[in-house]
Amino acid sequence: MIINESRVVNLFLRLAEIASPSRREGALRDYLRTSLEKRGLRVTEDQAGAMIEGDSGNLLVEIPGTVAGPALLFSAHMDTVQPGVGVKARVGADGIIRSAGDTILGGDDKIGLAALLEAYDVLKEEKIPHPPIEFLFTVCEEQGLLGAKNFDFRRSKAKMGYVLDAGDDPGAIVLCSPALNAFEYKVYGKAAHAGINPETGLNAVKIAAAAIAKMPDGRIDHETTCSIGLISGGTARNIVPEKCVVIGEARSISGVKLAELTERLIRTFTEEVEKMGAAAETKVEQLYPEISLEPNEPAVQLAVHAVNHLGLTPKLISTGGGSDASILNAAGIPCVNLGVGMKDVHTCGEFFSVASLKEITEIVLAIIKMSAIA
Ligand SMILES: [Zn+2]
Repeated sequence: MIINESRVVNLFLRLAEIASPSRREGALRDYLRTSLEKRGLRVTEDQAGAMIEGDSGNLLVEIPGTVAGPALLFSAHMDTVQPGVGVKARVGADGIIRSAGDTILGGDDKIGLAALLEAYDVLKEEKIPHPPIEFLFTVCEEQGLLGAKNFDFRRSKAKMGYVLDAGDDPGAIVLCSPALNAFEYKVYGKAAHAGINPETGLNAVKIAAAAIAKMPDGRIDHETTCSIGLISGGTARNIVPEKCVVIGEARSISGVKLAELTERLIRTFTEEVEKMGAAAETKVEQLYPEISLEPNEPAVQLAVHAVNHLGLTPKLISTGGGSDASILNAAGIPCVNLGVGMKDVHTCGEFFSVASLKEITEIVLAIIKMSAIA
């Protein structure tokens, strides 16, 4: 497989220049769409942009198969975090790609986009037989996976999926990631003058603090965590606070454990608050579901074979965060997240190596090749 190094590096540098912060992916969408249509590919954009108040939807690219085989989906996200406008990416003599230092680089996740386009070009040039392939380029991944959440997966025929969006080195295959619940806990007490008649008030901040002290916190077990992240309440120094709002989260690789922990958190909070005579209100939102794939899952096996075939070492790992792979799995497409070698993401010091870009492109090609043989 001949990867054209300068072509894929130049493509990445071009993609990095096109600003695409979450909800403002339109310019990058236009560039990708034009590039793909020039290659004769069918590209469709969905309505996700309108649903999440962004200027672009998700792009689905359908590449007809040249041989039979299970359809494969590869995905990368188009959006970046800030500061991501005016990125001047360059390749150092050391083979490392960095920004000028005043912005992020956007390797998260434009390295994935560049690798997929290069993989497609090599597929064509080398006439590599392949099953049907879909590319899904999502928006708003950095904002709670909103693009993927609003994609209609009935449009996909894929039997397995690969998201190119993990920070580990190429060869890493993420099998497990937690489900995440976000919590809003509220205490309604009673306001009173803090100096004149405090005994008629009910201090919501103090009651929240007492309830929090009784709730589980931190690491619960090797796959489960929870935390309080934000607390706000009260209106002035001399007023007994009437209301207190507490924001927290809980995660677990196990959906059952997360459900149990969620129930315990809500119950403890509500009981403690009510015990002190105030009213409690709680809200839970699942931001994304867990991924828990077995090593013998066909999507995993195919990735392991591809990585081995290239002489790299497959590393089956878990992470503590979600990705678009969380949404794909929930939609019924067994999907792993692949390490692409992006480092120090979400900082102005973000970087990756040209070698990583080539390796992840080779892994994609090897997955495609081996799926056709299988
Ligand atoms: Zn990412």
